[in-house]
Amino acid sequence: MVNQRIGPVNLEIRKGVEEDDGHHYYVLANTAETAISRLSTAYSPNEMELFKKLVENIVESGDGKIGSLAAMNLTDKLEKRIGKEEAQNFFNRLEDDRWIKKNSDGKISLSVRSIVELDQYIKDVYPDYIKLCSLCKKLCLQGCQCENCGAKFHFRCSNAFFSKQGPNKTCPESNCRAPWGQVVIR
Ligand SMILES: [Zn+2]
Ligand SMILES: [Zn+2]
Repeated sequence: MVNQRIGPVNLEIRKGVEEDDGHHYYVLANTAETAISRLSTAYSPNEMELFKKLVENIVESGDGKIGSLAAMNLTDKLEKRIGKEEAQNFFNRLEDDRWIKKNSDGKISLSVRSIVELDQYIKDVYPDYIKLCSLCKKLCLQGCQCENCGAKFHFRCSNAFFSKQGPNKTCPESNCRAPWGQVVIR
């Protein structure tokens, strides 16, 4: 009902889930422009290049996160160099603005805002790298993978699924159902 009212002013409330801890959020999204174009007005072209490289490395990592040193080294690949301190300040701003988050292991992943607002961007730009969760069918960067069929699942989705199964766990993927063995993604 709220979305019907705020639709005409190009706003929409979207539901999002933080991938690492499964917390639910509501994100107030602007539908008039893409998140990338809005980011471009908040950050300099150089910072945007760094942000896109960060997203690329997180998406291509396989486990949905990269180390902070690896993130810092991305500054070497920019057309116009950014100093390490400037880069650190930029990463802090991204974290404050909820685009990225520091995980408990110190690695950097995409926060719920990116998961919700950059969903289409990531699907469009990295179709060969992304996997959708086999249970909820949403973009899945951080999760676990079946060692038999390779299907990927959010931790929260597989936990909910397995909690309903007996002690003999099988893969949630309907075409697989092999005894559950999990690939540890590094
Ligand atoms: Zn899922
Ligand atoms: Zn499987």
